[in-house]
Amino acid sequence: MDISYIINELGEDREQYFNAVAPPIVQTSNFAFKTVADMRNRFRDEYGGYIYSKGLNPTVDILRKKLAALDGAEDCLVFNSGSSAIYASVMANVKAGDHIVSVKNPYTWAQKLFDNILPRFGVATTYIDGTDIRNFEAVIQPNTTVIYLESPNSWYFELQDLQAVSKLAGSKGILTICDNSYCTPLYQKPLVMGIDISLQSATKYIGGHSDVVAGVVCGAKKMMRKIFENEMSTSGNGISPFNAWLLIRGLRTLPVRLEKITQNTAKVMEFLLQHPKVESVIFPFNEDFPQYELAWRQMQGCCGLLSFFLRVNKVEEVVTFCESLRHILMAVSWGGYESLIIPACASVLPDRYDITKKSHRMLRLYIGQEEPGYIISDLRQALNTI
Ligand SMILES: *Cc1c(COP(=O)(O)O)cnc(C)c1O
Repeated sequence: MDISYIINELGEDREQYFNAVAPPIVQTSNFAFKTVADMRNRFRDEYGGYIYSKGLNPTVDILRKKLAALDGAEDCLVFNSGSSAIYASVMANVKAGDHIVSVKNPYTWAQKLFDNILPRFGVATTYIDGTDIRNFEAVIQPNTTVIYLESPNSWYFELQDLQAVSKLAGSKGILTICDNSYCTPLYQKPLVMGIDISLQSATKYIGGHSDVVAGVVCGAKKMMRKIFENEMSTSGNGISPFNAWLLIRGLRTLPVRLEKITQNTAKVMEFLLQHPKVESVIFPFNEDFPQYELAWRQMQGCCGLLSFFLRVNKVEEVVTFCESLRHILMAVSWGGYESLIIPACASVLPDRYDITKKSHRMLRLYIGQEEPGYIISDLRQALNTI
């Protein structure tokens, strides 16, 4: 399906709403029936139509169709956060006594689910370095039911060979889940490479304007129905019609935003790589990246988020650098219009600072849509203060 068709037309039926060009926000909690028979039919199959907006809603459905098509999926569910998308996908596929294999350092709240919540229900998780397929083979047990991936992850950008992992998992009847927030389905399609569930935080690139928190799960229709009827409906963590509408709006410009951010990232990376105060940069499409070839093999693009290390002797210099930035904001998240930075040392208590540790000199930079010269001059003046 043509990407322009998906983004501009798919799921939209203007005759249903006065030929309005922009779809309406169907801001209703419930839907009325004319006959008892209709109501009974809907009660028997809530996934088949509208009854209550905690479940399905027409504005949300437009978004679902577009997101499923972008991912090459049969179906899609949209949640009120990326974290709840992770929660529902994992919970739907484990039971007491099961074992999960996860890449090490997954998204923080995925890790909390594995470490703090699931052990209470008898589900154990083994973390592995996902850069080598042999590490998966080594820890799979007869009770392994889920392999959890995040490729690339968001500080070190380690990749997993998605085709190899899905082949291995398929041969053992294990379900694979991949967090695809970094690439979006425009730059990587996990389902096409054999992964069972592709999920992402739509807060990042899909929303794209730092004004909505949301998550997406894509996969087979049967799996989506199972998640909808159980985990999603009991936790009531579906997206609201208004936030779905914001995501539809975000999708209209997703390709052009990613293109601009890709161009900006190349220029900013070039600047960082040659700067004497910068020790190194981690970015999957940087030639020095250890999995550079795999990155090009399974990703159609990659942009925005990178990490770099400052060449400094004191943590105070990292602090000075961050606090000297005039335009780049110090904030979590990414994928919006604005450039952002997080120093790793913000997660370390000052008395634990150890500048000899490379990780304490690390910063994660998100390059937004400002003009590249604007971002570079801000970085340059802040680097000059240290
Ligand atoms: C932000 C993020 C999430 C969580 O999404 P929220 O919408 O913030 O709940 C999950 N995975 C990755 C890789 C993320 O960056």
